[in-house]
Amino acid sequence: MKSSFSDEHLVFPTRYPIGIEIVRAEGVYLYDKEGKAYLDLISGIAVSALGHKHPRIWEAVQKQIASYAHVMVYGDLLLSPQRDYAKALCGSLPKGLDKVFFISSGSEAVELGLKLAKKHSRRSRLIAFEGAYHGSTHGALSVTGSQKLRMPFMPLLPDVLHLRFGVLEDLEKLDSDVACVLIEPVQAENGIRSASLDYFKELRQRTQDLGILLIVDEIQTGLGRTGYVWAFQELGFVPDLLLSAKALGGGFPLGAVIGSAEIMEKIAQKPSFGHISTFGGHPLSCAAGHAVLQIVQSDSFLTEVRNKANLFREQLSHHKAIREFRQSGLLMAIELHSKEDLHDSILPSFWKKGLMVDGFLFCPGAIRLAPPLILSSEEILSTCQKIKEILDPI
Ligand code: PMP
Repeated sequence: MKSSFSDEHLVFPTRYPIGIEIVRAEGVYLYDKEGKAYLDLISGIAVSALGHKHPRIWEAVQKQIASYAHVMVYGDLLLSPQRDYAKALCGSLPKGLDKVFFISSGSEAVELGLKLAKKHSRRSRLIAFEGAYHGSTHGALSVTGSQKLRMPFMPLLPDVLHLRFGVLEDLEKLDSDVACVLIEPVQAENGIRSASLDYFKELRQRTQDLGILLIVDEIQTGLGRTGYVWAFQELGFVPDLLLSAKALGGGFPLGAVIGSAEIMEKIAQKPSFGHISTFGGHPLSCAAGHAVLQIVQSDSFLTEVRNKANLFREQLSHHKAIREFRQSGLLMAIELHSKEDLHDSILPSFWKKGLMVDGFLFCPGAIRLAPPLILSSEEILSTCQKIKEILDPI
């Protein structure tokens, strides 16, 4: 029962678009044309951390739009929404991560991170990981760890090496020709895969010893998603560059690269304008994102996220249809025993029951759950009950 939805003029990047038209979204619910409610279990892929139409975001955006929406963001004018948000972001981070460059998306954050690494180190080799997703632009695709996605667009960036994620012996391939190692704290599109604390410790040590920049892609994991403001905080290392996007803009397009002044200011030197972006750090996105950070960084909010994550685990880890339940906070994968294509009938049965879920790019047998962090415990219990009822006959 794959979706046969198509549109006369719109192009979709998938052969199986869901095809449900959402006309309104509020709190943790999406509503279609017929008024049917769907519990949002994906948050626009880890974007809507506070759900939809959150009053604090709403207020911040209205206040900002009453002053101005867009003026010029190339760094010539001082924009208070950018300045205030950058200060708050750096306040949520360890020392050394104290300069922010705002752009518009995750892929663009990856592009800028790679460019900064090459310019800072004067080296060319880029190391990334099999199973990693870093974006769809040429540079970000070059470091994405899927041959299948990369092949049709070759040649991509030269001198890129993909290692196996979490495999200690592969770190022996690091040497002084390497500009940077780009890593996700949890491989999201690979179906929520983690690596050990020892692995991250060794990676940090080796990159430091060899003068390699360690870049962490927190585009999907940042802003409280894993139960920490930033996922690396749980893993016990501090990166040289932090990449963020998705939830960073509170539902509006925004990306950021954050690092030390020494590294970040290279983008303005020889030549200046080493990276510019017309909409980067858009005032409305900064105002909305700042409202999100103010809420998600509180200890009590983060404790609740971790408690909610535990509740999902308790409810879902022991069902006969589930091969493995993996999670990092409220970023979760339900991997099924079934070899059936999820799009045939499994995902449609979730949608029919009013649960908005989808799959992963690189993990065909797994269902993604990344609900708004504000989902209540009662909603989690009733959702898990519905999920189990859907999975019972599988
Ligand atoms: N990195 C990661 C870990 C991602 O999950 C994504 C988006 N799924 C990207 C980079 C690319 O972000 P964007 O789609 O905003 O370009």
